[in-house]
Amino acid sequence: MLQKNQTYRVSVTDLNNLGFGVARIDGITTFIADTVTGDEAEIKLIKVAKTYAVGILVRLITPSPMRCGEEEVCPASRKCGGCVYQRVTYAHELALKRQYVVYAMKKAGADNVRVNEVLSTQKTSGYRNKAQYPVGCESSDGKTRTVIGFYAAKSHRIIGAEHCALQPQIFSEIVCYTANFCDEYGISAYNEETGEGLFRHLYLRIAAATGQIMVCPVINGTSLPHADAYCDGLTARFPAVASIQINVNTQKTNVILGEHCSVLRGKPYIEDVLCGRRFRISPLSFYQVNRDGAELLYNYAKSLLCLQPGEALLDLYCGIGTIGISVADNDTPLIGIEIIPQAIENARDNAARNGMKNARFFCGDASDAKTILQDSGMHADAVIVDPPRKGLTPDVISYLAELAPKRIVYISCDADTLARDIVRFREVGYTTDEVQPVDMFSRTGHVESVVSLTR
Ligand code: SAH
Repeated sequence: MLQKNQTYRVSVTDLNNLGFGVARIDGITTFIADTVTGDEAEIKLIKVAKTYAVGILVRLITPSPMRCGEEEVCPASRKCGGCVYQRVTYAHELALKRQYVVYAMKKAGADNVRVNEVLSTQKTSGYRNKAQYPVGCESSDGKTRTVIGFYAAKSHRIIGAEHCALQPQIFSEIVCYTANFCDEYGISAYNEETGEGLFRHLYLRIAAATGQIMVCPVINGTSLPHADAYCDGLTARFPAVASIQINVNTQKTNVILGEHCSVLRGKPYIEDVLCGRRFRISPLSFYQVNRDGAELLYNYAKSLLCLQPGEALLDLYCGIGTIGISVADNDTPLIGIEIIPQAIENARDNAARNGMKNARFFCGDASDAKTILQDSGMHADAVIVDPPRKGLTPDVISYLAELAPKRIVYISCDADTLARDIVRFREVGYTTDEVQPVDMFSRTGHVESVVSLTR
């Protein structure tokens, strides 16, 4: 029987996707923060439950050869908890991510599907092009200061933005400028509990290929006092800022963005280049957070699609149209469906500006694809789906089977729902024999995967 507060000597045999080392003590699976696969460690149990236990590291007896140097560990990580794999070599992280996908396939009953080695750009820092920082305040010495940063792990306490290793340095500088602006002009921070105060989040995006930056204060009101001063200072210090917009969110909710944006300065979008195409991105539209990773993913998806001249492509969950426009030729009949109206506006614009002659985009739910294709008189020889984490609904899968394209390329950011859907597709006659994981989110516990399903 394991004892709480007792110390034990353990061999850590795994590292889970929440960043806990895993060891067995008397047959009980034990999760231990700050340890990694291959460590020999002395640990103390802080929780003993029926089927598992939780421990903390007391002393490393023999550090794992898979550990990387402490100097590589992000200073913010202890408080933020986002980079669960930063204590191990990148090679080991990729092996763990592949193993996670293997396990997901096995659990769902898709273990006949081979899982390839993870594809990666090998870039493990500074790759994120988007950040949404909560705004709060802290008091000391009788003074109240604005803090803009991130939430401490598993809490709603805001900690100041020490530099995050995954984001470009310039984001921290804009955060700092904005916090000083709020202090200087007396702009209040939003308080989640009371629903009072103005500034809720600072939302930033950078287009990696063009360098253009979007700055979007999310506010609990319809205007930002001293907006001109804010914009003047921002554009003078950071000439790459191409778009400053406020997003209005007056709801008492933990959803970050409201439905409306209005431009304070510059364009209502920024532009990035992906797979040789140019894309306009509005604040409310989805855009892959790792541009170079997206290029790798889309090129792989293109090779799976094998589109022949004249074949029509359906891009379901198309966002701003990036995948369809990247993988298709200018005369490919392309139909995109997406639920966010601003993304569809971007997609139409993007298709036209890239010279796509036969592209049409519809705002709607994926489950309306049947009606949309019927009403527009379009068909599809190939389909790309790229749903959110919850995956496809059974009605979308059965409609795709009815549509009977030659090939369905499925891009997924959640291996568990992908595995579930592979099994559901098998029931309607579409199978795959391999999954290709792609590392779009280095250092974090997430992994993207892509498969090609054929009849
Ligand atoms: N393929 C795009 C976007 C993928 S993210 C890209 O790579 O950039 C998933 C997209 O699905 C988001 O744009 C989201 O707004 C959209 N979405 C979410 N639920 C949806 C639904 N039920 N029907 C249609 N689109 C949906």
